[in-house]
Amino acid sequence: MAKPKVAIFKFASCGGCQLQLLNIEDKLLDIIGAIDIVYFPMGKSENLEGPYDVGLVEGAITCAEEIERIKKVRASCRILVALGACACYGGIQSSRNWMPQRELEPKVYEHWEALSSTKCFGIDEYVPVDLHLHGCPVDREELLEVIKGLLMGTRAYLRPHSVCMECKLRENECLFLKGIPCMGPVARAGCGAVCPSNGAPCSACRGPANDANVESFVESLKEMGIPDEQIARMFRRDASTAKPFAKVVSMYG
Ligand code: SF4
Ligand code: SF4
Repeated sequence: MAKPKVAIFKFASCGGCQLQLLNIEDKLLDIIGAIDIVYFPMGKSENLEGPYDVGLVEGAITCAEEIERIKKVRASCRILVALGACACYGGIQSSRNWMPQRELEPKVYEHWEALSSTKCFGIDEYVPVDLHLHGCPVDREELLEVIKGLLMGTRAYLRPHSVCMECKLRENECLFLKGIPCMGPVARAGCGAVCPSNGAPCSACRGPANDANVESFVESLKEMGIPDEQIARMFRRDASTAKPFAKVVSMYG
């Protein structure tokens, strides 16, 4: 039986999610016999044209050229997976969506007049996506689960609940209860609560949990005395185009 052909694409991103793929190389080697990675410019020098069975896409869509390219990528892949916060929600660069583009660009680029920037979105703004793998970067174990699931024709279990649940299971002292604004109550789990477990508040890079009560969470932040501007900044990070988060940014930004 022919091995599934896998392609890995990069759009506007830091490369960190593709690096996670390289970081699981030892485990990937166990299943590498079952797949054929035929297109992976960051990892190999010889890359083949499509069609592909599976496309893993890292990065956000930020300009007219990328809109056309992601449509071609979609047409060449039977299954399309959004890999990481950039591909799912636009990532950290989507925070620019709330700033006037023509004011921002001259501050960054010398020859900004030639740019064809659009607002920054995840790939499903433009094409249908079969599976979203959240996180900044994606979690290695989850990534492996997804690859194995694709091979076996099953759907990987992606946690729908909040980061708080994973944080409690690790018996961490709650930062929120100590007055530190942590987004765990509204953030999607699957990272093992890695940030709060290391003393840093969750920034909700995985986007909103399925049942996130964002309104109630914002009320709690206000009761803590967090200013509106800071509330908007908290929701304007990696997943600012997720509808419940975008609504908060529009209200408080
Ligand atoms: S989701 Fe994070 S780690 Fe992955 S490419 Fe985007 S910025 Fe980099
Ligand atoms: S530290 Fe953050 S993630 Fe952990 S329980 Fe408290 S609010 Fe939830």
